[in-house]
Amino acid sequence: MADIRIENLRKQFGNFVAVQDSNFVIHDGEFLALLGPSGCGKTTTLRMIAGLELPTSGRIYLDGEDVTFNRASARDIAFVFQLFALYPHMNVRKNIGFPLLSQGMPKADIRKRVEETARLLQIDHILDRSVSGLAGGDRQRVALGRAIVRRPKCFLMDEPLGTLDAEFREVMVHELRELHNRIHATTVYVTHDQHEAMAMADKIAVMNHGVIEQFGTPQEIYSKPATMYVADFIGSPPMNFMRFNAGLQKGTRSVSLGGVDVSVPEVRQDVAVGELALGVRPEHIRFNDASPLRGAVYGSEYLGTNQVVAVETSSGLIKARVPANRNFHIGEPVGLEFSNANLALFDCKSGRALASALYQEAQNG
Ligand code: ATP
Repeated sequence: MADIRIENLRKQFGNFVAVQDSNFVIHDGEFLALLGPSGCGKTTTLRMIAGLELPTSGRIYLDGEDVTFNRASARDIAFVFQLFALYPHMNVRKNIGFPLLSQGMPKADIRKRVEETARLLQIDHILDRSVSGLAGGDRQRVALGRAIVRRPKCFLMDEPLGTLDAEFREVMVHELRELHNRIHATTVYVTHDQHEAMAMADKIAVMNHGVIEQFGTPQEIYSKPATMYVADFIGSPPMNFMRFNAGLQKGTRSVSLGGVDVSVPEVRQDVAVGELALGVRPEHIRFNDASPLRGAVYGSEYLGTNQVVAVETSSGLIKARVPANRNFHIGEPVGLEFSNANLALFDCKSGRALASALYQEAQNG
């Protein structure tokens, strides 16, 4: 297995920049999710790592070796596509063993390797079945088997669960992570689904318009978003933003929100002037009638174990995730409170977090 190091990786199609100077390292055995909406440059990044697309500039190192201009077949990487093409006229055993046959491996060794792989994926009981009659989950396992059987240095997966229905997806998310825990293969996984990324990945790169907005663990990305984009893309409902205008100095510890003083995490930048936003996750808001931060209930969504209550405030609509055991009426006046430990502070113009240096630390690390 291997480290993957990406340095200033850029891809332009004509004047259009699909991937803009990305820098990151995936350590040996780590699972990285490239996460972002359609068109943000995830697949292009993956295809450059695979050797299926040449970068406009930048470098790709695999296990310390500069592979930027190596052909895909010379990179010892396995690629699992969304639309996995199995050979319909072959059974499961032959489909999994095919890459080894192409390499010229002796038949007895292929048999042994295919059976080990099938046991790992728990499909050893269907080895002699035709692939054409298999259900979606088993077909996906066969496709994975064909990638794993070569024991490549790393795996690249492009929305491999995209065609499965929701129930199967959940099972496969769990299985893929279990598989990763067993074989510890360096993996890059493209998805637009935050739940898949959060559930499986050791690290996530959140992409937007070709730019990596944040690179970090799922916990860092969720609790210390580097930008408003990340704060909004991750979480359901997303982070609330309470906008206000102010001039803040380095060291600022409180802001005025609709005339109410709110204590905030310490500002580490020199000066920020203009439209700013306080960010708070819905689960970090509590209702307290004594709180000076007032609003009126706009609506509520009952979710069984909890409920999401939308509150109209002078700083906009705020959503709070609170216990389901209290009924709220539309228009009901409420007081809101939150602890400053769970707040983020953003500059609306740049979209960057002012109270967290995490993004820079991650990029430099
Ligand atoms: P999706 O999940 O929809 O594939 P993505 O994040 O993987 O989204 P990419 O496929 O990497 O996005 O595409 C990034 C941008 O580059 C898109 O706007 C796409 O139209 C453009 N693009 C990709 N390949 C080419 C190409 N060969 N020629 C021109 N533009 C391209």
